[in-house]
Amino acid sequence: MSNVVSIRVQGPVAVLTMDRPPVNSLGYDLRVGIADRLDEANANPAVQAIVLTGTARAFSAGADVTEFGTPKGAKEPNLRVIIGLLENNAKPVIGAIAGQCLGGGLELALGCHFRVAAADAQLGLPEVKIGLLPGAGGTQRLPRLIGLEAALNMIVGGAPVAAAKFAGTKLVDKVIEGDLVAGAIAFAEEVIEKKLPLRRARDLKVVDPQGEAFLQFARNTVAAMGKNFPAPMKCVEAVAASYGKSFEQGVAAEREGFLFLMASPESKALRHAFLAERAAAKIPNLPEGTPLRDIQSVGVIGAGTMGGGITMNFLNAGVPVVLLEMKQEALDKGLATIRRNYENSMKKGKLKPEQVEQRMALITPTLSYDAFENVDLVIEAVFENMDVKKNVFETLDAVCKPGAILASNTSYLNVDTIAGFTKRPADVLGLHFFSPANVMRLLEVVRGAKTAPDVLATSMAIAKKIKKIAVVSGVCDGFIGNRMLARYGAAAAGLINAGALPQQIDGALQGFGMAMGPFRMGDLAGLDIGWATRKRKAAEAGVQMKPIVADKLCEAGRYGQKTGAGWYRYEAGKRDPIPDALTEQLIDEYRAANGITPRRIRDDEVVERCMFALVNEGARILEEGIAARASDIDIVYLNGYGFPLHRGGPMLYADTVGLPNVVRALRRFAAEPGADPSWQPAPLLVRLAEEGKNFN
Ligand code: NAD
Repeated sequence: MSNVVSIRVQGPVAVLTMDRPPVNSLGYDLRVGIADRLDEANANPAVQAIVLTGTARAFSAGADVTEFGTPKGAKEPNLRVIIGLLENNAKPVIGAIAGQCLGGGLELALGCHFRVAAADAQLGLPEVKIGLLPGAGGTQRLPRLIGLEAALNMIVGGAPVAAAKFAGTKLVDKVIEGDLVAGAIAFAEEVIEKKLPLRRARDLKVVDPQGEAFLQFARNTVAAMGKNFPAPMKCVEAVAASYGKSFEQGVAAEREGFLFLMASPESKALRHAFLAERAAAKIPNLPEGTPLRDIQSVGVIGAGTMGGGITMNFLNAGVPVVLLEMKQEALDKGLATIRRNYENSMKKGKLKPEQVEQRMALITPTLSYDAFENVDLVIEAVFENMDVKKNVFETLDAVCKPGAILASNTSYLNVDTIAGFTKRPADVLGLHFFSPANVMRLLEVVRGAKTAPDVLATSMAIAKKIKKIAVVSGVCDGFIGNRMLARYGAAAAGLINAGALPQQIDGALQGFGMAMGPFRMGDLAGLDIGWATRKRKAAEAGVQMKPIVADKLCEAGRYGQKTGAGWYRYEAGKRDPIPDALTEQLIDEYRAANGITPRRIRDDEVVERCMFALVNEGARILEEGIAARASDIDIVYLNGYGFPLHRGGPMLYADTVGLPNVVRALRRFAAEPGADPSWQPAPLLVRLAEEGKNFN
């Protein structure tokens, strides 16, 4: 028997309390528990009314997403049955709501005859955010209680609303100050005493003289919004079915929309991303409850592009930052950029003037390492050069207090080598932010061979504090994201050599959904970075560098947007890429010099090569244990590289295409004359494909 719902009888009122930590998600045991306790309350002749309540944290935050698609999730009684039991109960049922009351949780509450709530209880139907619609009667009952417009806004928008806003509507019969359950019992006694008729939401009618016009307006608005996501329009259609139709007809329409969305690739991608984000926070072989180091202040070295953005993250979270530069001029410039960013936010109304000053006041600018004596964490964002990093870390080792965490924001350099510059490698790790660091949500936490568990755990906690999505990566060239990006870039470069132009490749990949094609991205980030890396690698390998087209562009002083030209040309002050004859000429010259006869390349080949290059490297990263799970890789690409959310990340995309198809295509590419050996399918990919398995 399920014990997550308890029953307590007080006078004529039975109180059913749901307590399934942490947030009363509506898993199988909770559903059974409600049904069982309801039977018990009904069988007790002393009971004349029933209060259904949760905990202070949550009435219920909705479906148990981990049960989605599992036998347990489908096991009867399902949520719709439970809601029917409440609504059809002969004794009045009063929902008593505190904390989160979301999704299926709110639908459950809508099955009650009456509802009372704490003023700050959060009521919402966020299903649209995972590509679904409320599938347990929410689209039919909510409009019957609060009207078409308000219901539609909640269902299409997905944002929760405080219960106090519904005071006096049929959704919240009473806002309870003080003890919620005591208030609910008093309300139940009133229902008994006044013999109030049971108000079943299903029996009400949606009355709205402007209903049709409003729905048409909603359809137009939603159609103009999301082209890649079908859920918002299906929400509108389901709510529309609550108007002028019977409850049964409306529920049938809702069901149809729900099943359609449940099977849609977009919803699968959104649910995957939702679960992947949670999973990324769990680190294998890092015991839960690992003690954290106390981080009260942070040092940042380098006030350039990254250092400035990194600093802002901490200021926003109220953490003081000591910001170090080599020269006063660079320091002033960095501070001015931070101030300008805040002032821009202020102009947009996002910050008040005093908040700008409060944040700026948290910075201690310095030219001397002495100021780092007491900081708890240092993040280095100086030039990407091992000699410079060596100097910085040797100095940090000398000045920082024992126990301070020493982090590098390096994009490619070996974190273990950097840790080796100190006598405390256990305190060193990579914290790889993405540009612009104050905006981008991704943070790669690079775990070195000697990084201590508490350093890692503390870094994950800090990431959360500064509102980043952290993904742990092992040490390798470029970590998860940039290592894969190198293969993707090479695939795109290969296509250029073979016959495509940058604008075609960017167009094809943007058509696929990438926020920006690789050549526009290169121009934005600066082509000189890759140029320097290629030169470094050639030098390390002791070989003569064979310049590719990108190197030729750099040799011509075309570093991208910052120099007014790269792959594309840019008009002064503008960011629109203009295809450029000189780029075409350099490409032609390269082809001629290498004996390549250009061929016509189709857009789907562009997508196939670039995506499968990502997937293949992703598989290697997984196999080597650099990433703990395929979904971590997806999180990196969704949040750091503009990968389209509706496709769920490269690894989920591979699953969707079918791994045997990916392997076949890679083998085809690998068999081409002169093919790069990296096109050979990764052993893990081959194995999964042969076993009929997926990445996720
Ligand atoms: P940047 O050139 O904009 O800034 C570097 C700053 O560091 C400069 O202001 C410079 O004066 C300062 N500096 C250099 N040596 C110093 C020293 N010894 N002591 C104090 N200050 C010093 O470079 P950036 O783009 O901010 O990159 C910094 C680091 O972040 C690099 O390791 C880079 O690989 C990494 N990174 C860059 C990006 C990006 O997109 N730009 C993204 C992720 C990581």
